[in-house]
Amino acid sequence: MAVDLSGSIDCDVHPAAPDMKQLLPYLDEFWRDMMVSRGTDGLDLRSYPPNSPLSVRPDWRIEGGKAGSSIERLRTDVLDRFHVDHAILNCLYGAPALYNADLGAVLSRAANDWLAKEWLDRDPRLRASIILPTHNPLFAAEEIERRASDRRFVQALMFVQEQMPLGRRHYWPIYEAAEKHGLPIGIHAGSLYRNPTTSLGWPSYVVEEYVGQATAFQHQLLNLLVEGVFTKFPDLKIVLIESGFTWLPHFMWRATKTWIALRTEIPWVDRSPSEIIRENVRLTIQPTDAPPEPGQLARICDQLGSDDMLLFSTDYPHWHFEGDEVLSEGIPERLHQKIIRDNAVATYPRLKELVV
Ligand code: ZN
Repeated sequence: MAVDLSGSIDCDVHPAAPDMKQLLPYLDEFWRDMMVSRGTDGLDLRSYPPNSPLSVRPDWRIEGGKAGSSIERLRTDVLDRFHVDHAILNCLYGAPALYNADLGAVLSRAANDWLAKEWLDRDPRLRASIILPTHNPLFAAEEIERRASDRRFVQALMFVQEQMPLGRRHYWPIYEAAEKHGLPIGIHAGSLYRNPTTSLGWPSYVVEEYVGQATAFQHQLLNLLVEGVFTKFPDLKIVLIESGFTWLPHFMWRATKTWIALRTEIPWVDRSPSEIIRENVRLTIQPTDAPPEPGQLARICDQLGSDDMLLFSTDYPHWHFEGDEVLSEGIPERLHQKIIRDNAVATYPRLKELVV
């Protein structure tokens, strides 16, 4: 039986990435002229294969248009259907993958302005993540500063496969700006394709790449820990989005066991990885890579060792569940209200402003 989702906060919803024609009005005269005169005004930096079954649930497809391109459909498919109080828009726009850092920054800025005008202004239930031109972390930090005053932006967004491990000091200006403004860093599945998308090299098929995302999240989580990001930025929250979560218990066991043996090489990590993860890391619930028996999923939830970590998400319009069964059978009842709403309010300081 589907769980009552009234008052829920959906932490992973994807509006379709804008094409260049949609962004032209948000560019200044110089860049608009550059795009048109170069013939790149038809550029469409979308992020996933549009006809792949995983990309779009059949009943969420839009005839003749991109899935996730209609705010009316978002209302009927998600906001009204699941009785969502608020939904966080994670626009998976490809601008950060561009090699020209100036152009990446300009298009990220335009896409954030487009999100504010075309989505946030049109429905008070919507919130959004700031698209970051991560190719240049100083530009990304500037974009956080520029957008931070708009409290409807509740998070800053990165891909799990950026150009280098995310714990490196290269990225710390981003974390500094995010922590300063009370913005969690959302790390979403996806790649800038600077490196092979599996640890073994380039895969041949989407299925390999998608399944392999879980290992990319593990690599990044460990790198964030050992490089000392959570020591330097203790108030920073990291939200792993579309990562799956059932891999986390065994990852924490392995990371903690090995840290006990090797912690002398990273003395700045002064608590166990499990403890740091439970305090600073959150995960969205879709996809739920659930074992077949509900009781087994319940045990995995217990093995997380914290009831505060999981956040409700539909991952609209991706196809991870059927009908209204967004909360898998087996997720313990004591967690329902926390997952549906309370954990998100505790994770996103700007969502707390909504609670009266
Ligand atoms: Zn997603």
